[in-house]
Amino acid sequence: MSGSSAGVIVVGAGLGGIRVAEGLRSNGYEGSITLIGAEPHPPYDRPPLSKSVLLGKEDRVDLKPPEFFGESSIELRMGERVRAISPADHTVTVENVDDPDRTETLGYESLILATGLVPRPLPGTAGISGVHVLRTISDALALREEIDGAGRAVVVGAGFIGCEVAASLNQRGLTVTLVEPAPTPLAVALGPEIGALVTRLHVANGVDVRTGVGVDEILTNGSAVRGVRLGDGSVVDADIVVVGIGSIPVVDYLDGSGIELAPRESGGGIACDECGKTSAPDVYALGDVANWRTEDGGTRRVEHWTHTVEQAAEVAHRIARSDATTPAAPPYFWSDQFDLKIQVLGRPAATDEVHIVDDDGRKFLAYYSRDGILTGVVGAGKVGGVMKTRPKLLTPTPIADLLG
Ligand code: FAD
Repeated sequence: MSGSSAGVIVVGAGLGGIRVAEGLRSNGYEGSITLIGAEPHPPYDRPPLSKSVLLGKEDRVDLKPPEFFGESSIELRMGERVRAISPADHTVTVENVDDPDRTETLGYESLILATGLVPRPLPGTAGISGVHVLRTISDALALREEIDGAGRAVVVGAGFIGCEVAASLNQRGLTVTLVEPAPTPLAVALGPEIGALVTRLHVANGVDVRTGVGVDEILTNGSAVRGVRLGDGSVVDADIVVVGIGSIPVVDYLDGSGIELAPRESGGGIACDECGKTSAPDVYALGDVANWRTEDGGTRRVEHWTHTVEQAAEVAHRIARSDATTPAAPPYFWSDQFDLKIQVLGRPAATDEVHIVDDDGRKFLAYYSRDGILTGVVGAGKVGGVMKTRPKLLTPTPIADLLG
């Protein structure tokens, strides 16, 4: 074994990784902290990638200034990937991304896995220029570089990232077609009622929204994309195709480790208890890759910023102080599309009853309920209305109390 003394090793230098490292120090942890990241960049923020970075307003979205790492005694190892973990030996094997034959074995007392996701590829698109996914800053800059020379874009998949990319490309002056097999954008997350209001927002801004239809074929001129053929036979010309059809938890390095994964039908990722502990001693997981048990005995893997930050705080507290923090506030996330902030508070489900209580033709506010109890609130351009509901989501509140 070589390298650091056996303190905490964090695998994944993204949002969750940096937040848990920072949280360990703010909770008084004095041992060594090693933050290992496969990307060649210091930790950066992903939400701006589909918004301000694509719009050309920002180039760098680092989460910390360079001096932070020295001042906090956090060893940041960039461009290094954890290849394997041995919970029995309390070691990880690290390889250099540019030269995978250069490996090192490091020991840990506690290990934190925050390895995030990779985008799900659209089959048959490998190697075609002009076809993009969006997860990393390199992805965002590569896509942005092609915007100026392009006239038409197709975005495949109208989840949150697809909708945001469609809005940004439209704002950059491209003719944008948004293709989604479900009946509306965001239908899987928020149901068709709110999806219809999101469609309205995109159509009002000039996006061609094609729902209920998938992509059958990517059309090329040699090795470059020239359009897509949809399931209904129609052809949409495109200089750029952006694929946003979901993501896959990064767990390949756990092969052979014995660390339990969650079944795919419950979201996949790394199976954890309600405080982030995995099936292996002294190993925790958090963020997009982690599937934490919920208080009601279920399990949940969530791909949102605030959720990752809350889990990082919980794990840092637990390792540094050996106990759990106070129960989390209602889950929250947001999405910026055109000039509207869409906010989601609580646990609304696509199958819940939706009560649209405010709609001026653009901005809207809706409550969600299940069995008569408020489950969540969704607003677009309604920050006050959303936040006002927060206390009602802390205890079971009959929806009738809000509608009456
Ligand atoms: P990540 O931030 O993905 O970090 C994981 C890191 O681990 C990566 O850098 C990866 O390279 C590294 N890694 C993987 N495997 C290894 C390995 N074996 N060894 C070493 N390193 C490894 N959320 C919202 O709530 N609102 C938004 O508006 C919003 N917008 C978004 C827009 C985009 C384009 C994207 C991609 C995400 C957005 N999110 C948004 C989601 C939010 O950014 C994520 O929830 C958050 O980044 C999750 O943090 P994480 O640390 O779990 O994973």
